[in-house]
This record gives sequence, structure tokens and C-alpha cells, in this order.
Amino acid sequence: MSESKHIIIVGAGPGGLCAGMLLSNRGFKVTIYDKNPEVGGRNRALHLDGFCFDTGPTFLLMKGVLDEMFELCGRCSEDYLEFMSLNPMYDLVYDDKTLSVFSDQENMRAELARVFDEGTDGYDRFMDNERSRFNRLYPCITRDYSSIKSFFSLDLIKAIPWLAFPKSIFKNLGQYFQQEKMRLAFCFQSKYLGMSPWDCPALFTMLPYLEHDYGIYHVKGGLNRIAAAMAKVIQEAGGEIHLGEEIQSLIIEQGVVKGVKLQNGEEVFGDEVIVNADFAHAMTHLVEPGILQKYAPSQLEKREYSCSTFMLYLGLNQVYDLPHHTIVFAKDYHTNIGNIFNKKILSADFSFYVQNATVTDTSLAPTGKSALYVLVPMPNNDSGIDWQAHCQNVREQVLDTLAARLGLSDIRNHIESEKIITPQTWETEENVYKGATFSLSHKFSQMLYWRPHNRFEELDNCYLVGGGTHPGSGLPTIYESARISANLICKKYRVAYKDIKQSAWLKKTKA
Ligand SMILES: Cc1cc2nc3c(=O)[nH]c(=O)nc-3n(C[C@H](O)[C@H](O)[C@H](O)COP(=O)(O)OP(=O)(O)OC[C@H]3O[C@@H](n4cnc5c(N)ncnc54)[C@H](O)[C@@H]3O)c2cc1C
Repeated sequence: MSESKHIIIVGAGPGGLCAGMLLSNRGFKVTIYDKNPEVGGRNRALHLDGFCFDTGPTFLLMKGVLDEMFELCGRCSEDYLEFMSLNPMYDLVYDDKTLSVFSDQENMRAELARVFDEGTDGYDRFMDNERSRFNRLYPCITRDYSSIKSFFSLDLIKAIPWLAFPKSIFKNLGQYFQQEKMRLAFCFQSKYLGMSPWDCPALFTMLPYLEHDYGIYHVKGGLNRIAAAMAKVIQEAGGEIHLGEEIQSLIIEQGVVKGVKLQNGEEVFGDEVIVNADFAHAMTHLVEPGILQKYAPSQLEKREYSCSTFMLYLGLNQVYDLPHHTIVFAKDYHTNIGNIFNKKILSADFSFYVQNATVTDTSLAPTGKSALYVLVPMPNNDSGIDWQAHCQNVREQVLDTLAARLGLSDIRNHIESEKIITPQTWETEENVYKGATFSLSHKFSQMLYWRPHNRFEELDNCYLVGGGTHPGSGLPTIYESARISANLICKKYRVAYKDIKQSAWLKKTKA
């Protein structure tokens, strides 16, 4: 039966590719369209004069989830990708000290004792308690919440105390760590969701926990290789990927999505349409006004969104002695956070992240050269900042800050190639609503049942995958969104599918 069912996917980002990979391997006819000439979306490769960068994701967390997606397709991820575990994972640079962060507990304890003077008992309690939290919450996070019935699951009811509602991640860490700088080492990860640690719900303490218990990975050639590998699996299973083909609109008849209309006017009809394009962008650009209510443009405008990023990709004619990943905290972290999330203005003193992956993976640049990736969290486009006017000034400021905080004082002399992405570019060229690179904010009222559902509640025959739907932004959760939507489609057409008990890679909670 499934052979005759045609699934159209709008977008070849991680969500669209993972859904396409699962469904094509379950016998569906899969056709994916992406406006870009390459697969991957924000996870695609950026090639510049012989240098290769990841456009967005550079940290692979929860490798077990990615492995499962390949396993569900009867494949082994390692046949397609070369994973490189990073330990130390990254350096954290404060105004007065540097901490190397390890994924093995022995080295981590020694390093915390070297840099801070409050002992390591808190770290041990963090590891034990947060493992229990994660093991309780993960099954809930990966469920479908497309109906209120599914919301009231026994799993979720049992996990409610572990949500630590309404605490923030910063507050939750108070039970383990006294000093603010020590807490920052375990909560800056809220920026992975584009949120402030003072607003990000405590349940996301799972992000630092996951790094510390499961480690983080680089993939040889960059994380963009994951997207390329998924595309290969889709094609091996007979799926089609049309690149450089932009969808102009969804074809909707009486609330039912029938197919898609391409920019060139061609109409393609299918049984189900999966939307992977950024949720709020898609609903404001691909659906005619007047059709949506809950997610009408005026309602989307009122929702809360993540921050954005200013990106500087530098092809350098030398390799700096910098770790693979470095995170530098603004000297006045509070003010920088307030500027990004509340005042929505530029900061002179800002936090930033630098990836110098060439030290681990020489395939990313010509011999003796390096590909340096710099990410600066910025306000999203609610700020009204005119990026055309500010772009060059901010670039100069970023280069000055690399010199001042990391000692790269001669960096301007070594730049061979460069590319900048501003919050404005994210919106206009990458189709990201308000340039909010991590989608709808992950505050409680926009999570689980309250996030746009995987089986989209406003249109029939329409499913969502990607950072803007449940469970949320970040590669592993995006792959989970693809699994949820693919399973829902299989259930609808009574197509049997293999499922894997997610516990296979979970570490056991102490008795
Ligand atoms: C700078 C940055 C750093 C990040 N770092 C990490 C990290 O280290 N680790 C991590 O796990 N996550 C990270 N993320 C978050 C997240 O994993 C990525 O953003 C991820 O790529 C989002 O995947 P997605 O499937 O939601 O959508 P996208 O990657 O945005 O893909 C959507 C696709 O839809 C296409 N599309 C849009 N409109 C149309 C249209 N009309 N017609 C056809 N195609 C269309 C787009 O071209 C795009 O290819 C990062 C994100 C950013 C931006």
C-alpha cells in the first residue's frame, strides 16, 4: 500500500532529510524540494575558495539518536560518517580564567578543582541527579503531542516533578554550584536554544548534562556531512531530492494540503506534505492569508522567538593554536544577555564562540591553512537594527575582540576569504522568521503540546519537522521530530515500521 503514497517534503534541512530517510526506507515515494543548491539547510556546507565551513551546527550531541535514525533504515551511521570524539570538549574563557571542559569525570573534577575553589561535590551531584532527570524526561520529550490525550501520558505525569517548573536552568544549578562563574560553565548551553540561562527552563539542564555524560562529536568534513549522508540514504532507497527548486505555496483545498506549487508555476500533488522550512516563515509565506487562525501572521508575530547570530567565516592562511571549540564570555555577561534578549541592542562587550576545527580535521582547509568560524549571539530582528549599516562595524569589532580576548592580534593579515551572515541575512536569504536562528523560543508555554504539533493542527495531510515543531531546536531533537512525524504517517497508512527502544544508548541511573 505504502508504495502508492507520495510524501512531499518542503526543505532538505536536517528535519526534512531525516523524515525522508525514514519514510523512503519504509516504502513511501518521497520527493524533497529545497531552494538551495545543496542539502542541509542551516546544517549545509559552506565552501569558500578551498575552505569548508559548517553554516550552523558544529556540536554533535547525543550521537546515539543519530545512530538510531540510520539503524531504523537498516544502516550503520559509521559506514557513512567518520565521527571524532572531542575531549577536552571545549575551553571556556572568562575575564580572569580559562576552564577546559572534559567529558570524562576524572579530568573534569581535576580541572574544576584547579580553576575554582568550591570543591567538586557539586559536580558529582550534578552528574547523578541530572542523569536521573534526563532518563525520566527523555521518553516524554520524544513522544508525539499532537492531541491533548497524548499529553496526559503516564510517563509525563511521573516526570512532572523533574521538570522543576518554573525554575530556570541558572536557578536549578544553584543546588550544585555556588559561584556564578562555575554555574555559567553549566548553563551557557541555553544559548544552543537561543535563550538566556535566566529564562531557559530548568529541564534544559539536560544540555550540559548530556555533554558531560555522553561527550560531543565532530564529523570529519564537518557536521554538514550528516546531511549529505542522509541524502545518500534517501537516494539509495529511491527517494528524489530536487535542489534549487523553491516552493512558492502549499496547495490547500478546504483545509487539506494537496501538494505544493513551485516558483516556476509547476504544481506537484502528493498524499501528505511535510514542512521542514522554518515554521513561522512557512506559515507566513507558503500559506495564503486567511487560512490559518492559531498561527495566522498576526498570532505568529505575538509569539516569542530565540535570539539570532552574527556569523563570520574566515579562511586563514595559517593555523592558530586554539582548541577545536572555544566559548568566550562577555566580561559583563548579564549586560550582554540583557542587550540580546531584553533591550535588543548591540553590545560593545559580547560573548562569542570560535570553532577552529582545522586543528582536528585538516580536510577543512588547504595544507597549512585553517577555516575559522565565529558565532556572536545577537538580538533577533525585532531589534530593528539596520544590518546593512552596521555589518562592517560589527565585523571590525569582532576582529578586535578576537585580538583582545584570544590574542589573535594579527588576524587581519591572515584572512584570505571570508563570508558574513547577519540576522538580516538569516531572514532574507535563509528564510528564517525574524532571523531567529533557533526558532520559536523554548519557554514552557511554547513546548510539548503548546509547540506547533508534528501532525499540524491547522491543516490536514500536513506534518511538521525541524526546530520550530516539537521537540525543538538542535540536531538530535530535530531528528526526533522527523521520527515522530514519520511514525504518525506510517500509523495513518497502517505501514508497519521497525521501532527501537530508545533506552539502548541511555546510561543507567544509579539505584
Ligand atoms: C549558527 C547556528 C549554529 C547551530 N549550532 C548547532 C549545534 O552546534 N548543534 C546542534 O545540534 N544544533 C545547532 N543549531 C540548531 C539546528 O540544529 C540547526 O539550525 C538545524 O539546521 C535546523 O534544522 P531544520 O531541519 O529545522 O531546518 P533548516 O536547517 O533551516 O532547513 C530548512 C530547509 O528548508 C528550506 N526552505 C525554506 N523555505 C523553502 C521554500 N520555500 N522552498 C524550498 N525549500 C525551502 C531551506 O533552504 C532549508 O534548507 C545551530 C543553528 C544555527 C543557525
